Amino acid sequence: MRSDGKMLDKHNLFYEMKETLGMDGCPICGMTRKAVDSFIEGMLYDKINDHGLRDALVKSKGFCSDHSWQIRRAGNPLAHTLIYAHFLEEMLTVGSYLQKKDNPPKAPFTANAMRPVLKKLKPEAACPLCIYRDDAEERYLRSLVHFIQDQDFALQYKASSGVCRLHFLRIQKLFCPRDIKQIIIDRFYRTAYRLYLELEEIKRKNDYRFASEETGEERDAWVRAISFWTGDAGRK
Ligand SMILES: [Zn+2]
Ligand SMILES: [Zn+2]
Repeated sequence: MRSDGKMLDKHNLFYEMKETLGMDGCPICGMTRKAVDSFIEGMLYDKINDHGLRDALVKSKGFCSDHSWQIRRAGNPLAHTLIYAHFLEEMLTVGSYLQKKDNPPKAPFTANAMRPVLKKLKPEAACPLCIYRDDAEERYLRSLVHFIQDQDFALQYKASSGVCRLHFLRIQKLFCPRDIKQIIIDRFYRTAYRLYLELEEIKRKNDYRFASEETGEERDAWVRAISFWTGDAGRK
């Protein structure tokens, strides 16, 4: 391992990830969540009229269901109104539905009439926020492997709880020097082992014979086990 950290280009990402190692849970999950949250915040408050994003949304027909609801939780009814009014108008304008005099107007039914409507409903691209998240996640994974070459960063990684199972699997597919891989695997095993012992402790105290014993640090181990095994992407 390179002992001299000066060889690394220590930009913001380096320090941000180092700081994340001091927190609970997988650093890749943590940073990816943060990136998605700030994308949503920026989008709802400044970027709603951004042309690139608008074009992407027109192609994808909005966000995927998970991201749509996540964005909804961020608030801003007007931003939502603008997005959805646009999609509904696009759909209803086909075949001059909005101009029809009868009330309610007759919906298109024949295959010919439906073809242009379906074009307005079907996504032609993936959810822009999924694309953004996947890019960020990939960049963080590569950066993590790269940053562990720094001795100080490596020490902090060893003292953290390391990556979740899903990101551990992703790292196996990346190019990763032997010594770095060893650090990641060791950390993964130590976290798994510690969690296992804590879960066993919960099981033991759940037994009526030991139920009077006070619960210790293992109290929330089952929640940390979810985080370790499936990552924090779905965590609310
Ligand atoms: Zn993770
Ligand atoms: Zn999505």
